[in-house]
Amino acid sequence: MKRPTILVLGAGYGGLATIVNLQKNIGPDVADITLINQNDYHYESTWLHEASAGTLRPDQVRYDIADVIKSDKVKFVKASVEGIDIPGKQVTTDNGVFSYDYLVIGLGFEGETFGIPGLDKYALSIANVKAARQIREHIEYQFATWSMEEVKDDSRLTIVVGGAGFTGIEFLGELGNRVPELCKEFDVPQEKVRVICVEAAPMVLPGFDPELVEYAVGHLQAKGIEFSIGTPVVEATPEGVKIKKGEEEFDFVKAGTVVWAAGVRGNRLIEQTGIENMRARVKVEKDMRAPGHDDVFIVGDCALLINEEVNRPYPPTAQIAMQQGVTVAKNLIALINGQETETFVPDLKGSVCSLGEDDAIGVVFGKKVTGAKASFMKKMVDNRALYMLGGPSLVVKKGKFNVL
Ligand code: FAD
Ligand code: NAD
Repeated sequence: MKRPTILVLGAGYGGLATIVNLQKNIGPDVADITLINQNDYHYESTWLHEASAGTLRPDQVRYDIADVIKSDKVKFVKASVEGIDIPGKQVTTDNGVFSYDYLVIGLGFEGETFGIPGLDKYALSIANVKAARQIREHIEYQFATWSMEEVKDDSRLTIVVGGAGFTGIEFLGELGNRVPELCKEFDVPQEKVRVICVEAAPMVLPGFDPELVEYAVGHLQAKGIEFSIGTPVVEATPEGVKIKKGEEEFDFVKAGTVVWAAGVRGNRLIEQTGIENMRARVKVEKDMRAPGHDDVFIVGDCALLINEEVNRPYPPTAQIAMQQGVTVAKNLIALINGQETETFVPDLKGSVCSLGEDDAIGVVFGKKVTGAKASFMKKMVDNRALYMLGGPSLVVKKGKFNVL
């Protein structure tokens, strides 16, 4: 009998976890497994705020896919997916067309701009490792230009961060450490720099523990970060952002850098598949398959999974994406063996939000943590992700050990 072909799209947390668990559990005689990713490396999306602020170099947040796959069991193809033909069971890329018996879509997230005018064009988004490098270099360029120009435009030194969710707050935490370094490097007086976080909701980190939120805001304000809360960004222009302050009241903040961190959606390619989706996220069946498509699994941020206890979607996180990869690998093997698939049940251990190099807030196993202890836990979580996908050698190579 012909071996089935399994095609996995995307080497993010969900896609790689699927691959690593497939290669651990089946031999090359059982299935032909191909992984397609647009780069020959995986990047840690969960460290992108550091690469964006410049507190980590881009090469520190990525590692070679070859380091984690077994080439006798998995074929890796560096290619950009351009189209997914579900009825034809084919994927078109810039490096050929690939057929499949089973497809796993793990193409990750994109920044969501909610149609707000100007954001696509004038704001930067912490979307991937290349975008992170662009943000870092854009900020450095603004500082370098300010120190060179005769007639100084101080708005070059204003950084607006749209959104005070986890991404926005973690990025602000890094900027709190990075700005003094930038000032020193580019001969900029620190009092000239403004970092302003603009949040639409009435609180920072909406829905998170209020005591921890107060801790985070206090920490960031002590580093000079300003907050504009309950004031949505309504437009971006080449000069800065327009903010809604009241019913008919608007403010304009001139800024040399606007970083948009106000939410995510799934990869746009999902919208062309014909599979029902909401903002490019597919409400998956209990076993992670796309409804009505028994040969298509969706993992990570392209999947929408409802938490039935509260009747709301689980937040798109790396923690859940990796767990989904484990289940998808098991379910693929079950299908090949003619067995029943299993239900994906997330095992939520908590969440920790970093506030720069040495501080953080979090709720872990139901307990609140702050400060150096929370920061230590965050680094351990980061190292655990490396361990789960690449084993101890990857932790030694890329792990965070500057813990206390
Ligand atoms: P991704 O990690 O987005 O990977 C998608 C992969 O697909 C990438 O390798 C990409 O190159 C590839 N790809 C995309 N398009 C194509 C294409 N057309 N062709 C080929 N390849 C393609 N979650 C947590 O649990 N904990 C955290 O601490 C945390 N911190 C975060 C910090 C930041 C700054 C951000 C932005 C997010 C954070 N998250 C965190 C959320 C987490 O990063 C995402 O939920 C997670 O990355 C989703 O994983 P994924 O496998 O769906 O896709
Ligand atoms: P989010 O959706 O969690 O937060 C976006 C924020 O932007 C919200 O507070 C929202 O009110 C605000 N916003 C929306 N429109 C706005 C507007 N017009 N003007 C100003 N503010 C606006 O998105 P995120 O922070 O990018 O997080 C995405 C996912 O990644 C989440 O699931 C999150 O849990 C996860 N994540 C986790 C961690 C961690 O665990 N440490 C870190 C980063 C991200």
